[in-house]
Amino acid sequence: MNRLTVITLSVLAVILIVAGYFSVHLFQSSLSRSQRLVAWLNKPIEHADWSIKANDRCPGAPFYLPTSGYVGFLWGDQFKLNHKHQGIDIFAGTASGITPVFSVFDGYLTRQIGWKSSIIIRIPKDPLYPHRQIWVYYTHMADKNGNSYISDPFVPGTNDLFVPAGTLLGYQGNYSGDSGNPTGVHLHLSIVLSDVNGRYLNELDISNTLDPSPYFGMPLNSLMNDGDIVQCNSQ
Ligand SMILES: [Zn+2]
Repeated sequence: MNRLTVITLSVLAVILIVAGYFSVHLFQSSLSRSQRLVAWLNKPIEHADWSIKANDRCPGAPFYLPTSGYVGFLWGDQFKLNHKHQGIDIFAGTASGITPVFSVFDGYLTRQIGWKSSIIIRIPKDPLYPHRQIWVYYTHMADKNGNSYISDPFVPGTNDLFVPAGTLLGYQGNYSGDSGNPTGVHLHLSIVLSDVNGRYLNELDISNTLDPSPYFGMPLNSLMNDGDIVQCNSQ
């Protein structure tokens, strides 16, 4: 081997080691969160102090908490190689259709035709950066067969209807789109950016979403939380 080849191979080896370290680290923090979630789901009453309460608000934060339960997965958690979790998952610890979900901030609600378990709420002025518009997306509000738990006023086709913070939107469910393989009962919530025309961007891509931590006043970014229980920053 000539000197250039040796240098090239050394550089490649270092890159692989560093990349490996970071992907293992990401998977490990997701894994430790999974283990704690299982512990909580097995005994939610025993671990009541691990959970958050609907309509509470952390000191100084603009958003109220949307539902009661355990914050199981965070923004940026990685379950698959090429996909990072774009929101937070709050697990009820109850059966499907029981635990209510409320809006976190004043805004304008849209439910597209065909949306069984999801709604999205437009916030014209981001409370942290008032020059921009953001959206809050709520999903999994249906049973495993797609029977909706969304509140009656918000029928499919609802467009830009004003709802104040604290409005009952529906109930946590376990709809995944595949009735044979439902999710655990939880709410998935994400904060989504607008495009230049004021429409919401594709929620499935993390680059179209925002770190929810400053909006809720909690450590909800996976990079900054190695498996700690999620509570208000000041606690
Ligand atoms: Zn989720």
